[in-house]
Amino acid sequence: MTTKHRIGTALALSAAVALCLAPLGPVVFPGAAGAASAAGQRTDCPFLLDCDWVPAAYQQNGAPADKRAYGNYDISDRPRTNEIRYIVLHDTEERFTATLGIFQNPARAASAHFVVRSRDGHTVQMVRTEDMAWHSGNSYLNAHSVGIEQEGYATAGARWFTPRMYRSTAALVRHLAAEYGIPLDRQHILGHDNVPPTATAGTKAMHWDPGPYWDWEHFMTLLGRPTVPTARSDSPLVTVSPVFRQNPQAFRDCEKNVDLPRQASSAVPLYTEPSTAAPLFADPALHPPGEAGTDCAGDWGDKVSATQQAVVAERRPGWTAIWWYGRKAWFQSPEGTRTTTPTAGTVVRPKAGRGEVQVYGVAYPEASDYPADFTEPHTGTPLPYTIKAGQSYPGGGEAPAGYYYAPTIDSSLPYDHTYFPGGTEYVTVQIGHRLGFVKADEVDVVQVG
Ligand SMILES: [Zn+2]
Repeated sequence: MTTKHRIGTALALSAAVALCLAPLGPVVFPGAAGAASAAGQRTDCPFLLDCDWVPAAYQQNGAPADKRAYGNYDISDRPRTNEIRYIVLHDTEERFTATLGIFQNPARAASAHFVVRSRDGHTVQMVRTEDMAWHSGNSYLNAHSVGIEQEGYATAGARWFTPRMYRSTAALVRHLAAEYGIPLDRQHILGHDNVPPTATAGTKAMHWDPGPYWDWEHFMTLLGRPTVPTARSDSPLVTVSPVFRQNPQAFRDCEKNVDLPRQASSAVPLYTEPSTAAPLFADPALHPPGEAGTDCAGDWGDKVSATQQAVVAERRPGWTAIWWYGRKAWFQSPEGTRTTTPTAGTVVRPKAGRGEVQVYGVAYPEASDYPADFTEPHTGTPLPYTIKAGQSYPGGGEAPAGYYYAPTIDSSLPYDHTYFPGGTEYVTVQIGHRLGFVKADEVDVVQVG
């Protein structure tokens, strides 16, 4: 989880390991409107799920006159106002009961729609799906997603992510996806670690839960989407598919500065060359030029996850390169192992004659899409990644373009609680570990496999 808006933080990489409930960056403009949802609300859980309603706080947390200081979510009327297009999975980094308390404290400026308990999969709903929980650290994603917290700790995930928890979360995701028409793929069913920052400056503060020990292959199988070949073996589009228990990885908890036990993982390390002696890949927004990626569990730029798709850039004996943040990233794929699975689907590539395509962390309107008398337009700025000619990336799904403006708790400003649709179409792109968005008229969406 994170706050609604998080801007311009200058945290060091070590702070990037701070997870869902860790201290948060400055809240730039908390806001919302209307009346709090009533207790006793019927939940949006599937009928057979053990699920209660425990409302998150919707209260001011500063001077009474300061209508912008409030928590912990924004009232909305989704999907009528803003389409629900994504589901974001988290872990709490707190115990279950403490998590509920945090979401009931409006000073925390954080919430999620659902929280799932580790030991028995018991679920509580805290924010109506019609409303926008503040969970993803990206106000665009918050406007268009449902957030689900799993009780647990990313670096100890294997102990916390229980079979009953996986089953509850999967039942909930299947139910929500059916209700809102959300595709059951990894460009729409995201971890918090797949959510892009709204702007480059926010990259290092982005959270990376539920982390490398969440068993994505198991989870997607529970969603009815196991990884199976859907294309010929030479397909450029693949799904990364190591077997969780046969993919032990040794990472470091760089926040606590301790080595983590070598253990089953969804994460596959990425190198700059086809050699384990080569530097690990570095997300250019996380590391200065020339610095290598690290074995920190939270250094997401050098980890592709099981069930994520990728486009093969080159194959060599025992190694596969994929396009990743604008360059080739290599991982081991020994003969006879199931590291990748050929997959049919769509990829995006620059339109002919276009040098490179900018990638965004939001699909906000252009300035000209807002009314002339609107004083707080939000527009996107490019992230430091581009799609260059000759490269392609998984993606192509339509991303709703718009911005939900909700600066005060009670709609006391002009246009307060208005969804401004954008006039420019965007599509998703799996540019690296985190999702991105590109302008649809700058790319071709091509079916492959
Ligand atoms: Zn999170």
